[in-house]
Amino acid sequence: MYDHILIRYGELTTKGANRSDMEQILERNVRQAFVAWPQVRVGRIHTRIVVELHGVPVEPALQTLQHVFGISSFSPVAVASLDIEAICDTAIQVAKHELAGKGTFKVEARRGNKQFPLDSPAIAREVGSAVLRALPEVRVDVHHPDLVLEVDVRKSQAYVYPRRVPGLGGFPIGMSGRAIALLSGGIDSPVAVWKAMKRGLSLDLVHFHSFPFTSERAQRKVEDLVEILAKWGGPLPLHLISVTEIQSEIRKHCPEGLRTVLLRRMMFRIATKLADELRGGALVTGDSLGQVASQTLSALNAVDAATNLTVIRPLATEDKLDIIDVAKRIGTYETSVQPFDDCCSLFAPRRPKTNPKLEEIDRAEAPLDVENLVAAAVASRECKRIGM
Ligand code: ATP
Ligand code: MG
Repeated sequence: MYDHILIRYGELTTKGANRSDMEQILERNVRQAFVAWPQVRVGRIHTRIVVELHGVPVEPALQTLQHVFGISSFSPVAVASLDIEAICDTAIQVAKHELAGKGTFKVEARRGNKQFPLDSPAIAREVGSAVLRALPEVRVDVHHPDLVLEVDVRKSQAYVYPRRVPGLGGFPIGMSGRAIALLSGGIDSPVAVWKAMKRGLSLDLVHFHSFPFTSERAQRKVEDLVEILAKWGGPLPLHLISVTEIQSEIRKHCPEGLRTVLLRRMMFRIATKLADELRGGALVTGDSLGQVASQTLSALNAVDAATNLTVIRPLATEDKLDIIDVAKRIGTYETSVQPFDDCCSLFAPRRPKTNPKLEEIDRAEAPLDVENLVAAAVASRECKRIGM
């Protein structure tokens, strides 16, 4: 029945040069989403992207597009030749399929191709009466129809489609540049990663572990999370970095109450080095204001002072329950709640300082050989490419 899919994007939000970048990047991402189906063709017609299915069933193809950022809506399309009888026949097939013989409909016609002999109201009239004649139990309802049958007459073909499925919105991944996201095994950072991708950021993920104190199973859990995140526009590079040595140095030389903040600062320095190497322009974290002692304003400021990059915190102002809702929706929640220790929880002080001053932190950090510890951590990283 449906042999194409028509994709609409960012009609209202982008203009000018940005728009043409967006079109190219989205077209590339849609093509990438269909790599598993080599017969699928992706192209652009005017301000739409058209997916030609060439035999691929439409349902899985529609589901695939539910995972692509930057799409405002899409429609399964039946294609007809440029001839009013062919258009009417196709419309009847679509109406029959969608209404299963009864219900109400209306026709909305557009004629992009001004050479076509009938204008839009005439096309709508012809198609409407053909459907009524063919399906005796079907009625017209212009206000609340069960089916809006859209007919779009284009240069070389006509499209008939039954609905507009809402897309994810946001921007296509890659449109906003590249960043490094800090991914723990918790609930928050996978959601932050998803939201950053939705805003068009192309991400390298970094996870810090303290093997052998954190288990291999804990690392597997992070890889599972990345596998899930990669379904939304992957593949995703994951950099695994040991902070065992850094934690041991902090434990030996620094006040207990500042441990977590000091470790975070080291994480930021390492991530910043990675960003330099990978041309990343920002760091992304899952911090949410006030959630724990290391997420007070002074703690966040102390951590941010360790990088010169923009720090993007998509969850900064969100409530935990809303974050959990998103985690469930995107499929990361069940994996995030598996009980495996993170390097931070193993190392958490009994009484963390909630209001650390920068001078105090500088003093606490003085005994650490920061530069060498960071360089060694970066050098020992293991990189995996996960998904698709
Ligand atoms: P999450 O659920 O994302 O772990 P959280 O509420 O447990 O967040 P923290 O443990 O304080 O909060 O971590 C805050 C942020 O620091 C995380 O969202 C993540 O971006 C980063 N982070 C924490 N631990 C790690 C880790 N082991 N590897 C990489 N990033 C980490
Ligand atoms: Mg955590």
